[in-house]
Amino acid sequence: QPVVALSGVTKTFDGETAVENISLSIEDGEFVTLLGPSGCGKTTILRILGGFEECDGGRVELDGRSMAGVPPESRAVNTVFQSYALFPHMNVFDNVAFGLRIAGQAETEVRRTVDEALKLVRLEAMGKRMPSELSGGQQQRVAIARAIVNKPRVLLLDEPLSALDYRLRKQMQKELKLLQRTLDIAFVLVTHDQEEAFSMSDRVVVMNDGRIEQVGTPREIYEEPANLYVARFVGEINVLDGTITGRRAESYTAEVEGASVLVKARREFAEGDRVHVLLRPEDFRVEVMKDLEESPDLADKFAKALLKGTVDGTCYRGATYDVDITLDDGKRILVTEFFDEDSESLYFHAGDRVAVGWFEGWEVVLPHE
Ligand code: ADP
Ligand code: MG
Repeated sequence: QPVVALSGVTKTFDGETAVENISLSIEDGEFVTLLGPSGCGKTTILRILGGFEECDGGRVELDGRSMAGVPPESRAVNTVFQSYALFPHMNVFDNVAFGLRIAGQAETEVRRTVDEALKLVRLEAMGKRMPSELSGGQQQRVAIARAIVNKPRVLLLDEPLSALDYRLRKQMQKELKLLQRTLDIAFVLVTHDQEEAFSMSDRVVVMNDGRIEQVGTPREIYEEPANLYVARFVGEINVLDGTITGRRAESYTAEVEGASVLVKARREFAEGDRVHVLLRPEDFRVEVMKDLEESPDLADKFAKALLKGTVDGTCYRGATYDVDITLDDGKRILVTEFFDEDSESLYFHAGDRVAVGWFEGWEVVLPHE
């Protein structure tokens, strides 16, 4: 039985739909991230789960029990907000202990539980500090300790790291993931940052305008995006346009950007269907035309596709470099190349005439939108 079950959840504010027909199950101990741009309804879903907002339609269950009319404090769910919302006049220990004391827990038990929570967020030595004496990252850890101290079934985190600088955010992502494994409870994280979603989550829920576009593991979302919206929201993508011309065993023949190619698609298409062929920058194989002509065995690399184009320029990125290419039919693509170990310079240069193909495998082919 899932710990969280949303079915057909809808919420409207002043006649405007904030979330529409959201259905989602979350398993015990699972790390799920709601990913989408600002205003797409992520916070609204968390607030509905937390009990701060009633939905207009649909059903919310925690551990199989309907949450209709159940107030936030009676749900086994806690929330960590982006603004840490610590009590400024209380020290760290008292901030974390607050809820337990309100609930009337004995002081010896409070001490033991708070010490344990502070240890989990690596603040065991900071109990006596005031919030103003802590860094942003430490304040966020206090907020997390406070949210886990009474052992909720689900922890909701609304953009908890977005106020932190890049390095600290990366570090906190790993710590949060580790904490989630240690506690072995469900975490529901909200973020607009795809890297953050990918690096932490068991499953990612991609949202757009109040609706769910796709639910899947980070790899499924990246490698098998369900539509152009998802493909474009996560990472760089090249969208080539084409038409299916026939079938050949497991593959289709297609006319793509003016060239005859083979594509291996997981969907069914008929001859004449217009399609998008989606390729990540690292999916391409590119060769300078002159080199290709001199070594015919290289041509095997292009068994599936041979598009021609011209290099517009390159961009150094450390471990890799980007190559911008304009195909002969005018379509511009972005290719990621790895450095050749033996070579001291980039292999591609502006003005090079190049052959473009792609690696063997399943292509993502979508119906034309
Ligand atoms: P996100 O967290 O993804 O940025 P929100 O859930 O905060 O999105 O908002 C979704 C939509 O609902 C937005 O259009 C927002 O303006 C609207 N909205 C959210 N809360 C309220 C509210 N209390 N009153 C009116 N509109 C709201
Ligand atoms: Mg929000």
